[in-house]
Amino acid sequence: MKYLITGGAGFIGSAMVRKIIRNKENFVLNIDSLTYASNLDSLKIVNNSPNYTFEKEDICNEVKIYEIFKKFNPDYIIHFAAESHVDNSIQSPDIFIKTNILGTYNLLNNSLKYYKDLDSKKKKVFRFLHISTDEVFGDLGETNQFFCEDTPYNPSSPYSASKASSDHLVKAWKRTYDLPILLTNCSNNYGPYQHKEKLIPTVIRKILTNSNIPIYGKGENIRDWLYVEDHIEAILTVLKYGKIGQSYNIGGNNQIKNIDLVKQICSLMDAKTKDKPKNLESSFSLIKFVQDRAGHDVKYAINAEKIKTDLGWSPNETFSTGIEKTIDWYLDNKSFLQL
Ligand code: NAD
Repeated sequence: MKYLITGGAGFIGSAMVRKIIRNKENFVLNIDSLTYASNLDSLKIVNNSPNYTFEKEDICNEVKIYEIFKKFNPDYIIHFAAESHVDNSIQSPDIFIKTNILGTYNLLNNSLKYYKDLDSKKKKVFRFLHISTDEVFGDLGETNQFFCEDTPYNPSSPYSASKASSDHLVKAWKRTYDLPILLTNCSNNYGPYQHKEKLIPTVIRKILTNSNIPIYGKGENIRDWLYVEDHIEAILTVLKYGKIGQSYNIGGNNQIKNIDLVKQICSLMDAKTKDKPKNLESSFSLIKFVQDRAGHDVKYAINAEKIKTDLGWSPNETFSTGIEKTIDWYLDNKSFLQL
């Protein structure tokens, strides 16, 4: 099959490229504009594959995107490309509006143009799968509730609002134009190759450099963590078995307070790093609470029953196994953290 991946040089997109290229019958074309968040090292093992092609391109480029679609002739489009860091969206929302909303709009428009010209056999197969986040649902506060697929959207940050807008566009392109779309809303991912700005790589980096580990507020915010390879399996499951026009929530049922997550990493790092900096008895002493993020959501928690029951997906990793793998990977690949 021919997979067109956007944002395939990023954290999750590159995991997808590495996964699908293993099947020699698949062809992958990766469109990525290579922003600061990308890392081509994550694609070193696929670069020389005859079934892999890379196009450095902005998803907002109307003409080029259509040319690429026509040339590659994809069966599937899996759309990961986005600005993805909430803190950056608070400082500089413009690029989030441009990439996440206008970029998705451009992909949808071109997909529809491309789809309309397909023969009936290819039309049956074609899917546009949009990768989104649980953050579109907003804040669960101190309740014991979970996000379901029909939870009303109530985004808090410029990032989540831009992703929510893109989700609405994707759904509208199904309802109005009958483009065969699928949508996934996933919880926080972690694993190899995640950019150093994100929470888990930050904690590892700070411990390795003997610097304070900043934690927003009192560290009480709860996130539901999923190992990136479990997310990839879930996306491929939705692509294969998902019902056109539907959205699927994906989560690991690992709701953890940020402070507990950081403490767990500290324990593992203390146990694993023999070359701890001098004067540092335990990395726990590096924990420093800092002023809370503006508009910080208290809690996210995913109800993933639909994808489990309807499509048979469930995660392979527990948080304990996934975080250990992740820490081991960062310790073996310290250069990625640019210490
Ligand atoms: P990332 O920031 O690591 O990677 C994004 C990639 O998109 C980068 O390679 C970047 O160069 C590329 N990109 C950005 N703007 C572009 C543009 N205009 N044109 C072409 N390419 C562009 O992001 P990620 O963490 O891998 O997330 C991928 C997707 O998954 C995003 O849509 C995000 O909203 C969603 N998501 C992420 C998480 C998470 O925890 N990381 C959870 C749920 C959903």
